[in-house]
Amino acid sequence: MAEIEKVHCLIIGSGPAGYTAAIYASRANLKPVLYQGLQPGGQLTITTEVENYPGYPNGIMGPQMMVDFEQQAQRMGADIRWGMATKVDLSSRPYKVEIDEEKWIETDSLIIATGASAKWLGLESEQRLNGHGVSACAVCDGFFFKNQEVAIVGAGDTACEEALYLSKLCSNVHMLIRRGEMRASKVMQDRVMKTPNIKVYWNTDTVEVMGENKVDSLKILNNKTNEESIIPIKAFFVAIGHEPNSSLFKGWLEMDDQGYLITKPDSSKTNIEGVFACGDVQDKIYRQAVSAAGSGCMAALDAERYLGEMGLH
Ligand code: NDP
Repeated sequence: MAEIEKVHCLIIGSGPAGYTAAIYASRANLKPVLYQGLQPGGQLTITTEVENYPGYPNGIMGPQMMVDFEQQAQRMGADIRWGMATKVDLSSRPYKVEIDEEKWIETDSLIIATGASAKWLGLESEQRLNGHGVSACAVCDGFFFKNQEVAIVGAGDTACEEALYLSKLCSNVHMLIRRGEMRASKVMQDRVMKTPNIKVYWNTDTVEVMGENKVDSLKILNNKTNEESIIPIKAFFVAIGHEPNSSLFKGWLEMDDQGYLITKPDSSKTNIEGVFACGDVQDKIYRQAVSAAGSGCMAALDAERYLGEMGLH
């Protein structure tokens, strides 16, 4: 029989939500154990400078910020471990989580902070220049391209919102739409179409992001006329959607049609008592480090209250 360990509060995920939950849960003496997952530190470890997280007056590099979060959680007493949740059994308490397909943890409360992953086009040049002008977050990185030409790909609400955000900072925003229409809500489309410095390219695919160590132009293809052209740009933003990392919970937890976990209003509670969700795995709207951290705090407070009510703490 595989090894089983019993804990009081298990947190899975190591972005701002998971670490903040760990800080609060440690201080409440829940003795949390946190498993970091495949990408310790989460999405912030693939960004460069973070300037919009309060408390860092001079900005901070994303990877360093996540080291700071981890150290703070550790200092409070959180047991932070390398490892990945590979299966769950939420049929009854204690809830069971399998780690690395080899051991099971039983827990009285579970905080899910597994985040989301940006979707990418899948071009080699896009990966190579990631962090050097290619970004999946206009709110994070747009500022570095003030008064410059940039491009964005995508045609949903996120792409429209980010194109509008960029239009206030950058000289021109070239927006690439792969079909002859946008998926975004009508109001967002109207705003984009009315913005003079956003140029929309219909039926357009991205062929390649060009540049050696930084982006200098974009090769695009009109998929109706087969005409290729090159636009000089300094940054390329990919806004083709995110995927919540929630597949582990299919069949157990309520999620929307895109897989985002559903939490009860004004709380981090899922449909299973004692199981809480925070951060990007349950937030498709805001997706900011600071909002994720705030929801991690909520999850730890909800877990503490739950354990108290159950007489387990
Ligand atoms: P969506 O899935 O809605 O849109 C993704 C867009 O990317 C689509 O237009 C899609 O094109 C395009 N796309 C996907 N793959 C490629 C590709 N390989 N090449 C080119 N284009 C591609 O994602 P969003 O992140 O925009 O939105 C997610 C959800 O969050 C939605 O429900 C949205 O309404 C919501 N949201 C709401 C906001 C708000 O209310 N303020 C703000 C942001 C998001 P195609 O249309 O051709 O499939």
